Amino acid sequence: MAEIVLEGITKRYPDGAVAVKDVNLSVGDGEFVILVGPSGCGKSTTLNMIAGLEDITEGTLLIDGQVVNDKTPKDRDIAMVFQSYALYPHMSVRDNMGFALRLAKVDKAAIREKVEEAARILDLTEHLDRKPANLSGGQRQRVAMGRAIVRNPKAFLMDEPLSNLDAKLRVQMRTQISRLQQRLGSTTIYVTHDQTEAMTLGDRVVVMRGGVVQQIGTPQHLYEQP
Ligand code: ADP
Ligand code: ADP
Repeated sequence: MAEIVLEGITKRYPDGAVAVKDVNLSVGDGEFVILVGPSGCGKSTTLNMIAGLEDITEGTLLIDGQVVNDKTPKDRDIAMVFQSYALYPHMSVRDNMGFALRLAKVDKAAIREKVEEAARILDLTEHLDRKPANLSGGQRQRVAMGRAIVRNPKAFLMDEPLSNLDAKLRVQMRTQISRLQQRLGSTTIYVTHDQTEAMTLGDRVVVMRGGVVQQIGTPQHLYEQP
């Protein structure tokens, strides 16, 4: 669990493009925050800076009160779930979900236990021995989440995790993600361009436009004062 604080975060790409301008945001321990806005408004760049996948040009990023600007993604202990599932096609669901733990030399029995627990939460128990090619899109996305959960990260970052799914599945997965987040109680930042997702998923919504934060509020608050 973690508190994530952005103080005056700015991203200027080497070509001079300023993708994110002076963003201030505080995400509380266990809070579920949605970053929403049109394509190109700086959502992914913001998320990537929090994850450590992009350098921060200006400003300070704090996790649990510690400045982490110069820390590697690994040392930040934050898990990221992308819209492309990036599963290993030749590995079973079980091995995909346990992969990071095997790399970290966690012992086999513990890996088995963690993977099976995540599979129960994500309703994947019956699919543990299948390959990704034999799963539906929603199941694959759940495997990608399972891979993140088993590491017990301090926080989850999700970048458009549902945008490859059809409309019906998106609605189902929205409910599952809400339940999952409540059950785990993990600090979560979720990026989407979909207004409905933004208004139904999180505790708080951050509206971005042109690299700046335009509005922050609860879904109810934003609904009443759009
Ligand atoms: P998104 O779904 O977040 O809008 P994009 O299709 O805009 O994704 O970007 C995909 C990839 O291309 C990202 O890695 C991003 O950093 C990179 N990218 C986007 N815009 C540019 C650009 N103007 N110049 C160089 N790379 C870019
Ligand atoms: P979003 O996730 O909201 O779609 P991005 O964070 O991907 O937006 O992009 C924000 C802006 O930064 C866009 O104008 C995009 O073209 C630009 N951008 C993204 N990645 C790069 C990059 N690697 N180099 C230059 N510009 C980029």
